[in-house]
Amino acid sequence: MKCDRCEQLIDPADAVSHSASHSSLIIENVLFLGAERNARNEKELITRTGVTHVLNMTWEVANFFPGRIHYNRIGISDLPDTDIKEHFKAACQFIGRYCGGGVSLSQFGEE
Ligand SMILES: [Zn+2]
Repeated sequence: MKCDRCEQLIDPADAVSHSASHSSLIIENVLFLGAERNARNEKELITRTGVTHVLNMTWEVANFFPGRIHYNRIGISDLPDTDIKEHFKAACQFIGRYCGGGVSLSQFGEE
């Protein structure tokens, strides 16, 4: 069978685990959360989900489609002692600017 999201041929027995590998839908048609495998999957990212902007919260994952997607990188280290709170404001501003402003900074102690 062919996956609806990435058009990859998959064994029907693997359909559930395969679909779990796709990005998570946070707000329908607006906001997705994914990992590197989702960011590099052109069929899923551009064709199926229609993503136009990516907030890359890593130092190491490439911006895979720079001519087709607008990227903003806020490089943070994926380590237990990393203070991610200091990056919430910039992340929320980017998401709010391109996703319809549905993110409230007051949730993170910012005005
Ligand atoms: Zn798929």
